[in-house]
Amino acid sequence: MRTAESGWRREALEARSDAQRALWDRAESTRKAVFGRRVFVRGVIEVGNFCRQNCAYCGMRRDNGALRRFRLARDAVRRVIGEGLPASVTDLNFQAGEDPVVLREVVLPVIEELANESRLGISACLGTFDLRLYDELKQAGARGYILKIETGDAAHYRLLRCPGTLERRLEAIRYLAQTGWSVSSGWIHGLPEETPDRAAETLDLLCSLPLAGCSVSPFIPGEGTPLSGAQAADLERTLNAVAILRLSSPHWVIPAVSALNLCHASGYVRALRAGANLATINLTPSAWRDDYPLYRPGRWIMTEERVLRAIEEAGSEPSPDSWIAVSSSLRSSVSPLSSRGSIPASSVGDVATDRQESSEGRAS
Ligand code: SF4
Repeated sequence: MRTAESGWRREALEARSDAQRALWDRAESTRKAVFGRRVFVRGVIEVGNFCRQNCAYCGMRRDNGALRRFRLARDAVRRVIGEGLPASVTDLNFQAGEDPVVLREVVLPVIEELANESRLGISACLGTFDLRLYDELKQAGARGYILKIETGDAAHYRLLRCPGTLERRLEAIRYLAQTGWSVSSGWIHGLPEETPDRAAETLDLLCSLPLAGCSVSPFIPGEGTPLSGAQAADLERTLNAVAILRLSSPHWVIPAVSALNLCHASGYVRALRAGANLATINLTPSAWRDDYPLYRPGRWIMTEERVLRAIEEAGSEPSPDSWIAVSSSLRSSVSPLSSRGSIPASSVGDVATDRQESSEGRAS
């Protein structure tokens, strides 16, 4: 069903030239009004690439027999942390395929130790599990969880063989939020069979969820997947989606994702100019990085140097505070109106003004 919200977002996705500049300018101003010039910097350690799921777009899918699988040993993860994280890192994210073994044997014990000895904001991106496992992770000291929906249309979700069902994914997101986590989700824009309706529905759904943040990644066809011959996403639309999320949910943490640089060398910096406010430094030991094929060989690895340069080019500065700490305090201070993802049209300009006008004539 098309609503006024979908109509506004659908139109903004297609913005080009002056309309696109205006959209991004307003998104950037909105980000600055909430977060100032600061961009959060987190480190990510990819702790394993075993996965029990079989998503059509991902090189780590279980049917990809060509992939060398790994799980980092606890000591290897401790060494990455113990040898000194980059000075700009305030948050640490543990990421893996959906693998209960790496969760139990590596991530849980490492987080337990880390939470006792460090002030880092700790998050995990590990997939959908029995809800009790989330409780255990929280008890160990994690506070942020990243659970992406990739598409907001249930039929599209099934077609792409995304993990489990969309309904279960949404239940998990709601459970995490209710139990005090800072939850971030995500969308892969431009997946095969994505239609304008599905794109708008995805944005509407994401903006209705109790999230602290959300990413938009451009679809890049991955080797060793059934979609390896499909067309990659349009970079401009992906960046417009970043701006739309910022305008819809000003208090969210919105990452600039490294895949944007696979579309164009300026993609990452442009995302920061379009409203993104989180950059991620890859801390996975170099021997294992190529075995974490989110997209294709030749990943664009974000080192601290690249991240700091991008932040500077975008006219911003690294945040001294953890995104999890800041997002928790913002969540408790935002009004019910803004926590539903709406802000006054006057503060977001022409595109949002159009949305406001059409919502006055809302028929559904
Ligand atoms: S997207 Fe995640 S759950 Fe799906 S196959 Fe890849 S690692 Fe597994």
